[in-house]
Amino acid sequence: MAEEEVRKKILGSTETEEDAVLNLSLRPASLKDFVGQKDIIENVIVALKAAKKRNEPLEHVLFSGPPGLGKTTLAHIIAHEMGTKITATSGPAIERAGDLIGILTNLDEGDILFIDEIHRLAATVEEFLYPAMESFNIDFVIDKGPYAKTIKFNLKRFTLVGATTRAGLLTAPLRGRFGMFYHLDFYQPEDLVQILERSAKLLNIQINSKAALEVAKRSRGTPRIANRLLRRVRDWAEVKTDGKVTWELVNEALSAHGIDNMGLDNIDRKVLDVIISAYGGGPVGIESLAASLNEEKDTIIDIVEPFLLKIGFLKRTPRGREATKEAYKHLGLAAKEKAQKEMF
Ligand code: ADP
Repeated sequence: MAEEEVRKKILGSTETEEDAVLNLSLRPASLKDFVGQKDIIENVIVALKAAKKRNEPLEHVLFSGPPGLGKTTLAHIIAHEMGTKITATSGPAIERAGDLIGILTNLDEGDILFIDEIHRLAATVEEFLYPAMESFNIDFVIDKGPYAKTIKFNLKRFTLVGATTRAGLLTAPLRGRFGMFYHLDFYQPEDLVQILERSAKLLNIQINSKAALEVAKRSRGTPRIANRLLRRVRDWAEVKTDGKVTWELVNEALSAHGIDNMGLDNIDRKVLDVIISAYGGGPVGIESLAASLNEEKDTIIDIVEPFLLKIGFLKRTPRGREATKEAYKHLGLAAKEKAQKEMF
């Protein structure tokens, strides 16, 4: 586990401790500061207004999408907009049904229960969640054997907000109990520029618009990465120049961190490179790929792959992952056919 965390930190797509602290100050607290994802926001606003009008809690919501796109932020914003309390936990943190009872019985009417990585809930815990989500009660069994008794406990009507990077891994019964299901997509550079300008103001960083656009373009469509790169660039500006962030400085700082002009980092390039050089461009199964890279399969699927698929550098076929012509071009390698001929 510790090793996995370290790897994720190196990959830079999940939350590091530094992120956790800084994100609290950068995390938009209300809908007006939440940039992008227009369609989702429009739907969330309507649902919030309708729930408030009916004086009812919001229906359960599921957010899916790659890490760092704002799922947790949206859960907090929903609580803020509903004027209720939020309790945040994650699938792997709830080990036994008993842990969940404690959490559920402490919720008040309209409160938000946020479960991150909900696809990683244990099956026994998940089953316990069904009646809680559906009819706001839980059954717990006391005593054992012939003396066993089931007690029904009524809960306050709460809203479950689930987040997952792998919607496909959610069981059908769990998915079916959410009233709303939204998939967050990568952000456009213009949206990231807006996020960066807001963060720069909050962190007191002077960055011109050309420089902000360059950071945005290299952030893999991900606000968390944009904010992180902004901090790296700020360090560079403070040490190397007068503290002002210019386009030249962004180029210099990000290249020094191994972030190329498409925003790919060393691990992204390594994944492409292995597919191309060790497997003739693919297709290669995810298991073999993970073994060759000495990486966790989940890390590749959750963190590396989504963006490479999005920009068309990688293709997922029934026989495995394939590198595209664009990937060869980006890495400055010869086309697939040529590389294959050379191999045999
Ligand atoms: P996720 O839960 O999807 O992994 P988070 O909600 O933790 O992502 O987002 C990571 C950080 O990125 C937040 O703390 C926030 O600073 C920033 N962020 C994410 N989405 C947005 C957005 N739409 N507008 C502004 N900042 C955002």
